[in-house]
Amino acid sequence: MQISRRAALRRGAAVAGAAALAQGYGTGSASAAPETAYAGQGADAGAWRELRRGLSPAARLYRPGEPGYPAHATGDNQRYAAVRPAGIVACATERDVQKAVRWAAKHGVPFAPRSGGHNYAGYSTTTGLVISLRAMKTVTPQGRSLHLGGGATNSDVYAARDANLYFPGGRCGGVGVAGLTLGGGLGFNDRKWGLTCDRLTETRVVLADGTLVRAAGNENADLFWACRGGAGGNFGINTAFSFDAVPVGRLRATVFDLTFSLTPAVDVVEEVQDILAADGAGDFDVRVGFKHTGDGTTSLWVLGQFIGPEDALRRLLAPLLTLRPTRTFIEERGFWSAQDHLMEKPGANECYASKSLVPDRWLSPDTVADIAEWTRTWRPGAAKATGYVTLFAMGGTSDVPGRGETAYAHRDATYVIDIGTHWRPGTAPGAVNDLLAQTRTAHRLLRHRLDTEAAYVNFPDPDLRDWRRAYYGAGYERLVEVKRRYDPAGLFRYAQSIGRS
Ligand SMILES: Cc1cc2nc3c(=O)[nH]c(=O)nc-3n(C[C@H](O)[C@H](O)[C@H](O)COP(=O)(O)OP(=O)(O)OC[C@H]3O[C@@H](n4cnc5c(N)ncnc54)[C@H](O)[C@@H]3O)c2cc1C
Repeated sequence: MQISRRAALRRGAAVAGAAALAQGYGTGSASAAPETAYAGQGADAGAWRELRRGLSPAARLYRPGEPGYPAHATGDNQRYAAVRPAGIVACATERDVQKAVRWAAKHGVPFAPRSGGHNYAGYSTTTGLVISLRAMKTVTPQGRSLHLGGGATNSDVYAARDANLYFPGGRCGGVGVAGLTLGGGLGFNDRKWGLTCDRLTETRVVLADGTLVRAAGNENADLFWACRGGAGGNFGINTAFSFDAVPVGRLRATVFDLTFSLTPAVDVVEEVQDILAADGAGDFDVRVGFKHTGDGTTSLWVLGQFIGPEDALRRLLAPLLTLRPTRTFIEERGFWSAQDHLMEKPGANECYASKSLVPDRWLSPDTVADIAEWTRTWRPGAAKATGYVTLFAMGGTSDVPGRGETAYAHRDATYVIDIGTHWRPGTAPGAVNDLLAQTRTAHRLLRHRLDTEAAYVNFPDPDLRDWRRAYYGAGYERLVEVKRRYDPAGLFRYAQSIGRS
């Protein structure tokens, strides 16, 4: 069976890669976030006082010029640091969130909810009011459930490990569970236990009129459906989440962290794909990354986890290990210690941009060779910027919900592919444009090769043209219906928000 899959891939391999690699396309620009005036002008000083007075004692309002404002103004992506909010309300309670939404609607001030602040495209920042839930970060176990405040991050979930309950989350500690869940949620445990959104059992949402509702399978079921993949910032502000968690106290996991040069890339990906194709139980999960760092170093990394003992994993990886990794780390650990190893270390303050694709087929050798060539010939430029393509393995339990069962549209995918770059703040716009053009080249090449336009909404791309189809597939119309019902005036709005028609 494995042989026939390889043969089919080889037969189907396209031949136009080099030509496609040579071309760029599109006109995406580095200046995606021009400095803008505050958009709080609808509110005078008295209105801001009214907001401040209405908040709970533990909540805070930060206005430009006040202590605390700089630390709260910007999200993680420094590309949008020039977008300065007229105010940031750091909510402590659900009533604070209700108050902030009602106040913004009354005074015509645009607003954006923020939890972890890790949106790639800056959609949790605004020149109006940022409604931050970051302080609402409790994680409370109850039976097999974990109840979270709307501002909890992956790190907060890991910090509550004493209860030995876990639901599949992401790799970066600072990413908010809100954004992660609402857009889907990929991690090293999704092949085993599903996407983050698949484990959501209920959520509480402050709607555009300030009312607080519960959304679950048996109440506001259409809103609940939309909250599992329909993306953050579209229907309301989720103030709490409950997840069906997995008891992990006794589980052992073996982590692996291999680095190769780009030379064996085709064989490495072939071997990984063979393991994935044979792993029906979803015990094996992996990311494969092609990377060119600013100092000119290229590498291929294979990072992942196997739910099971080290010797069993070593048998699985044996063909891969013959391909001469330059670094090999394989170690069996307790479940939590394994997650600690996989956790991404917080990066320096950087600007970043990403494009994604979600194919439903394996990568052919020619496609892998083209990705390796793109990585090798990446031009870091004066910015000394990194360029990368990362393959997030999908399949296993992440395919169990049927198409349309949740708003997350990409069941039956082989990978989510993240094509991106990061660069230092202050890099000249011309240099940034060159980086973005290179990511567009890779995106176009892979789009053709893999015959897909599908994209992951949690890696939002402001330059994507048909983003409605790309993010949501056939589910977009249903999302529009939910939008009309829960946000009829369209108060929740950003560049790629769900429309009302
Ligand atoms: C370094 C890094 C690593 C990442 N790793 C992964 C990964 O391993 N797996 C993965 O799937 N994704 C990953 N992502 C993508 C991540 O899932 C998305 O960026 C996610 O939307 C971030 O959520 P947040 O709460 O941190 O973001 P925010 O920027 O706070 O919010 C994201 C969006 O949701 C809205 N929103 C925020 N809070 C709420 C709320 N409470 N209610 C309603 N809407 C809200 C915002 O307005 C915005 O539109 C990563 C991103 C980064 C930058």
